[in-house]
Amino acid sequence: MSLNHNMKSINAEMPVVVTGGSGYIASWIVKYLLEDGKKVKTTIRSLKDTSKIQHLLDLKEKFKDNLTLFEADLMLDGSFDKAIEGAELVIHTASPFFVAGVKDAKKQLIEPALQGTRNVLESCNRISTVKRVVLTSSVAAIHGDNIDSLLVPNQTFTEDHWNTTSSLTHQPYAYSKTLAEKEAWEIQKKQSRWDLVVINPSFVMGPSVSKRLDGTSVEFMRNMLKGIFRTGVPDTKMGFVDVRDVARAHILAGFNPNAKGRHITSSEVLPMLGFAKIIKENFGNKYSVPTGTLPKALVYLIGPFFGLSWGYTKNNIGQPLNLSNEYSKTDLGLTYRSLKDTIIDHVSQMETAGLL
Ligand code: NDP
Repeated sequence: MSLNHNMKSINAEMPVVVTGGSGYIASWIVKYLLEDGKKVKTTIRSLKDTSKIQHLLDLKEKFKDNLTLFEADLMLDGSFDKAIEGAELVIHTASPFFVAGVKDAKKQLIEPALQGTRNVLESCNRISTVKRVVLTSSVAAIHGDNIDSLLVPNQTFTEDHWNTTSSLTHQPYAYSKTLAEKEAWEIQKKQSRWDLVVINPSFVMGPSVSKRLDGTSVEFMRNMLKGIFRTGVPDTKMGFVDVRDVARAHILAGFNPNAKGRHITSSEVLPMLGFAKIIKENFGNKYSVPTGTLPKALVYLIGPFFGLSWGYTKNNIGQPLNLSNEYSKTDLGLTYRSLKDTIIDHVSQMETAGLL
């Protein structure tokens, strides 16, 4: 067997760092790593804010010294050093994720995403044990608006594509993810001790480890079930993926010695109405989910009240979207749950946890 000199074998006995352990996706990564018998060091903004970290305290109760919590902030230089010391694998998920109610995109999204990535990767540069970084990017770094599909072969996005249409004023969250991922590759290229493997999830759904309601994914599901969209949804397609599959993708990306490059991590592309239909088929009339789409003219009119700008409406409503998830299956060996299972499990978890 020829030994690929780029292969990075991660010592499974060494602690794994997960940034942003209070978050929706990171919570599952932390939980799975612990269940797999790994030691985990995770960062959170504050040890005092127990409402954000109760699920981590519960995991600590169960897994004891295998879980350690560290305070770190994306905007504070050197903040991550202490957590990263002695680790070979760093999984960097922390980054602000919201699309509605953005007041100052530069301050709220761009700076923490970009500065935070620099900050974490500079720690990795300083700390000589680090061999691999797994970064949570997004399909938002692959493409901006759905209309961008018309510019790519077979109207299908792959890992070869980059978002070239988002900006500070148009889709700033997508812009923040694009800038942060580009910066990560730039920083990685300047050295050879650690390699970078990137996970690019589409919209993440599925049960939460915590009871938090303030994340964008959970909020979307809750709004759907609460009937916020009962009069109809825009005719927009989105990629969806299960949070548990996304978490597994990060772990496979971390420990598979041959893992390489970017990975679109997405189970299915569906119109928003198709998503609502799955809820209806499985929960009947229990929830007032939308049964029709809104005319585009109406979306122009009322969209801005829901955070949909005219530019968004123009470039996304009625446009095609295809995301290729082939590479995630071949490079990582990832398998995907059906969106039906994701939705059923998510709704059930929210019901059981009393979140509706
Ligand atoms: P959450 O909002 O649940 O998690 C975001 C995490 O980032 C939280 O832990 C949050 O901390 C942390 N964070 C934000 N700002 C700072 C800061 N200044 N300093 C330290 N930590 C900070 O979102 P998700 O779990 O959904 O997102 C996690 C990652 O996945 C992000 O990088 C996001 O861009 C990416 N992603 C998410 C998708 C989705 O559909 N959910 C799709 C594609 C990518 P705190 O808890 O204190 O707020």
